[in-house]
Amino acid sequence: MADERAGRAAEPGRTAVVLFTRDLRVHDHPALAAATEHADRVMPLFVLDDSILSGRNAAPNRAAFLAQALADLRERLRERGGDLVLRRGDVVEETMAAVAETGATALVCSADVSGYAQRRERRLADACAGQGVRFRTYPGVTVLPPGALIPAGGDHYRVFTPYWRAWDAATWREQVAAPARISSGDLDRIGRLPAVDDLSDGVTSPDLPVGGETAGRAVLDRAVRRAGDGEPDLDDLAGDHTSRLSPYLHFGCVSPLEVANRLEENAPEQVRQLAWRDFHHQVTAAVPSVSTEDYRSRAVEWRDDADGLRAWQDGRTGVPIVDAGMRQLLREGWMHNRARLITASFLTRNLKIDWRAGAAHFFRWLVDGDVATNAGNWQWVAGTGNDARPNRVLNPLRQAKRFDPDGAYVRRYVPELAHLDGAAVHTPWALPDADRKALDYPDPLLDL
Ligand SMILES: Cc1cc2nc3c(=O)[nH]c(=O)nc-3n(C[C@H](O)[C@H](O)[C@H](O)COP(=O)(O)OP(=O)(O)OC[C@H]3O[C@@H](n4cnc5c(N)ncnc54)[C@H](O)[C@@H]3O)c2cc1C
Repeated sequence: MADERAGRAAEPGRTAVVLFTRDLRVHDHPALAAATEHADRVMPLFVLDDSILSGRNAAPNRAAFLAQALADLRERLRERGGDLVLRRGDVVEETMAAVAETGATALVCSADVSGYAQRRERRLADACAGQGVRFRTYPGVTVLPPGALIPAGGDHYRVFTPYWRAWDAATWREQVAAPARISSGDLDRIGRLPAVDDLSDGVTSPDLPVGGETAGRAVLDRAVRRAGDGEPDLDDLAGDHTSRLSPYLHFGCVSPLEVANRLEENAPEQVRQLAWRDFHHQVTAAVPSVSTEDYRSRAVEWRDDADGLRAWQDGRTGVPIVDAGMRQLLREGWMHNRARLITASFLTRNLKIDWRAGAAHFFRWLVDGDVATNAGNWQWVAGTGNDARPNRVLNPLRQAKRFDPDGAYVRRYVPELAHLDGAAVHTPWALPDADRKALDYPDPLLDL
């Protein structure tokens, strides 16, 4: 192997390795664009990282999406004359092996925020320094990089409103074009595309979105078209008007900057959601422990309630709006934002179960499951995070009547109640005794 690597290193010209992580696209990819501009030869590389694919991080829905996104990325790179090299193992060891094999003088990747990503970047930087290889990270995972906005007297914004004001006034970087041509030369050991079973052995949701840049760009086009008819009500649960871009943003199949540029004119509320995303990313970049530890301690006594947790996970709490959200999660690997707020509030405020248990369940199932955004939102709802009003409690019944007024969202996801008309679906306990007993649906876990 050492000889083979030494042999490849003899190729003339400057070679750069582009390490893809969760930036699986060719459009507006600053690291890829810079490498194709400055190097004679580019090796696009993805390492199936065992520490992300195993243990606590294993998520079959995201594994399925990832497998499709990698297949699509390989096609998009091949169209341009390049390819995607796939390896499996420790990301730093495999990347440095690829650097040695190609005799690369530069390694580039997109900067990321989690504690794991920051350690990965430090390890890569050290390994490159030891071998005289230039290492550089580029923006692209968020609209504005964490650290681009710093409040007076702090290292990151702790509250959204002032962050939003600064974000809204900031100048964004220029979008970069997808490279017209990528010269990869003869690449060795391209590697087989993984099947879902290679990445995970758990159960996947039946109605998952299709992964990849091609699908992501189509979803973005649809969001832009819909915004052209007027910005829809993002809180209408049954209307389902939000963009559904979150998995594509999580895996970087679409560039957040491109999304912001294209939605800016007609969908300012959705662009504001991207600022929320950036906000949580800059919190995580500064305080990576936010993914598992209270950002602000509130001395909450969490209840140990395995049965309550299980009922919530299964969508069998007896509170229809909560159960509808939880079943949407199991069926689609995705949940409407309003339902995420209602279900998370129900777990932490009504059942008083630790936000970490809820975040872990979301992380198991969400195809957009994201270290920064998941934990940031859970802590916001639980009152341990960045909410300026940490005692806010969402009443599930009031939320149901406001955001699902005729009950269509509940009927879509809770078939046991599908025959109940209108808003009556939200309060099955108010039915006459005989009708209620005929339902295969539990009594509410608690009196609301
Ligand atoms: C408890 C809880 C957990 C969540 N976990 C995740 C998660 O793991 N991954 C994730 O991507 N989103 C998470 N969210 C945020 C939000 O619910 C989803 O991003 C949104 O529902 C995705 O749908 P969409 O793409 O149609 O959103 P749109 O309304 O179309 O918004 C556009 C984009 O903005 C971003 N965005 C929207 N809402 C938020 C928000 N509240 N915080 C940060 N970014 C936002 C997303 O990237 C989204 O794709 C969570 C919210 C809650 C309350």
